[in-house]
Amino acid sequence: MLHCRNSRTLGVNRGLPEDSIVYTYRAPLRDIRFVVHDVLDFEENYRAYGREDLKRELLEGILEEGARFAEDVLAPTNRVGDVHGLVFENGEVRTPPGFKEAYDRYCKDGWITMTADPAWGGQGLPGGFSLAFGEMLVSGNMAWRMYSGLTESAALTIAAHGSDTLKRTYLPKMIAGDWSGTMCLTEAHSGTDLGILKTRAEPQADGSYAITGTKIFISAGEHDLTQNIVHLVLARLPDAPAGTRGISLFVVPKFRPDANGDAGERNGVVCGSIEHKMGIHASPTCVMHFNDSTGWLLGKPNEGLACMFTMMNQARLGVGLQGHGLSELAWQASIAYANDRLQGRAMSGVKEPGKAADPIIVHPDVRRMLLTQKAFVEGGRVLCFLTGREIDSAHLNPDPQARQASNDLIAFLTPIVKGFLTEAAMEVTSLAVQIHGGHGFIRQTGVEQLMRDARITPIYEGTNGVQALDLLGRKVFGTGGKSQQMIAARIVDSIKKFGGLPEIAPLAADLGRRLEQWGRLTAELGLAAKNNPDEVGAAATDYLHVSGYICLAWCWLVAAGVAAKKHAEDPSDDFYTAKLVTARHYFSRILPRVDSHAAAARAGATGLMALTADQFAIA
Ligand SMILES: Cc1cc2nc3c(=O)[nH]c(=O)nc-3n(C[C@H](O)[C@H](O)[C@H](O)COP(=O)(O)OP(=O)(O)OC[C@H]3O[C@@H](n4cnc5c(N)ncnc54)[C@H](O)[C@@H]3O)c2cc1C
Repeated sequence: MLHCRNSRTLGVNRGLPEDSIVYTYRAPLRDIRFVVHDVLDFEENYRAYGREDLKRELLEGILEEGARFAEDVLAPTNRVGDVHGLVFENGEVRTPPGFKEAYDRYCKDGWITMTADPAWGGQGLPGGFSLAFGEMLVSGNMAWRMYSGLTESAALTIAAHGSDTLKRTYLPKMIAGDWSGTMCLTEAHSGTDLGILKTRAEPQADGSYAITGTKIFISAGEHDLTQNIVHLVLARLPDAPAGTRGISLFVVPKFRPDANGDAGERNGVVCGSIEHKMGIHASPTCVMHFNDSTGWLLGKPNEGLACMFTMMNQARLGVGLQGHGLSELAWQASIAYANDRLQGRAMSGVKEPGKAADPIIVHPDVRRMLLTQKAFVEGGRVLCFLTGREIDSAHLNPDPQARQASNDLIAFLTPIVKGFLTEAAMEVTSLAVQIHGGHGFIRQTGVEQLMRDARITPIYEGTNGVQALDLLGRKVFGTGGKSQQMIAARIVDSIKKFGGLPEIAPLAADLGRRLEQWGRLTAELGLAAKNNPDEVGAAATDYLHVSGYICLAWCWLVAAGVAAKKHAEDPSDDFYTAKLVTARHYFSRILPRVDSHAAAARAGATGLMALTADQFAIA
């Protein structure tokens, strides 16, 4: 059994029933470096954008120090957060032991200011590269990461849409980590359908607004990590039109800023309760009551949803990264266990004669599970960081056309990163439990926590059903299919670039066929949708899967192409051997899932809509 060295070093989870046999997180620096430097070459891109200051040594320093923070400071708090959970008393939330210390260290060491605008106290590191650090934070402790992640997104939204006064008042405090942020959309009757939300905003004589209503499921709505909590709240003005066109966005702090800009008088916003949840036990999911609380308009009246999308789009990519970070952790636990656990003998002959049995990694079926995990994790990393590289291009590229192309690509990839990588996380964490056998189902090994934590990722930030509709309805049909053709063209470029390598040629040919299949499917669904709008909803989730598997195949083609070149230079380096084997596993055993999803997408709406609601329920 593996021991969590870190938790013992800090002593934060002594005395908990499950503290003895938990896996250890080690940041996968070799693979992160491979993707950042060899596959995507962030340094070269920064040079092309005139950011010569972002040299490899600097990026390396961030990766190494970031890994240390995630391994030594965060990872020890992950288990304790799950087991200890949160304490709710008199409207206040106490975070688990070690959380405040880790948060203070995160701020003191300057991590929290890393990507923020230097005009407000940030260090101005491009957000795309920071996804590599973000992955490590999630693997270290996903629930802990939510506090700072929400704050970063909320600050970004204020920076994008706020008046100068709002920016001056909130950004320095939030960027320094003294004040945190939330996003308040959901109400009891209004989740996916934000058009029916009821929270009201009454204009006041001094230019502020009185906000009244109750929001539910608000992550980090109340906690003890920061001096103040800044809520971004969706509400309706008195004369607002019905539906999503009548929603405005407001900044509502827990404590109103005083004359010095510090947290002053208490505002009329309180946490009524926190939810008892399946996972992310250390992240408070709060019922928030706004009682005539003072708020300030962010952006223009009735354009709040568009402003909130600044936060939601960032958060959607963040949730995709959560899925990926949890997958990495589940994979690490699985590979360690598979090498350690002795059961049965290899069919091809005994491998460990000195032991009572061979380690389970000798069994083909266990290898099937491990390679599937590895394929999702390493391919998912390329997909996340590739999206990050486009985010940097969208901000830094001097060529406006290139910036637009990057924005289009990000728009297309966002529902895929969110929807597909979170579904992958469900599979990878479930496989981790399976690889651990019965020991995976009991709490001590710790892998069941990963499966529970992962389960929220397909739900929040727009359910994956909504992501699928966004992809097929808005991103594909909304652009007349152009966005799908644009990404297909990028994939063709990669096929041309790497398809001549002998190891890559069969993969490139396979991907070329899949691209044609994807194009045909998109055109067929477009025709069907013209006759019946239900066809979009009926096909969307399977279409998202088809798109996800093909985009991941693209990532694997590029990674394998780079690995093949490196392998030719140094055949003794097992890292590249493993890359090529994993790429082949992806293409031969995972990519064919496209066929079944394409068939399901084509099956149409008729069958789904055939039963009345009453007919469904006949028992
Ligand atoms: C742990 C946790 C943290 C959260 N954090 C936050 C937060 O910080 N801030 C915040 O505002 N919210 C937060 N949420 C809320 C979360 O975003 C919502 O739960 C989510 O958007 C779904 O809304 P709902 O729960 O009301 O489900 P519903 O909208 O009732 O959906 C139920 C089901 O119906 C499907 N469905 C609904 N409408 C459609 C449609 N038009 N087409 C197809 N399918 C549809 C959905 O996909 C889903 O499967 C959090 C939730 C949880 C559990």
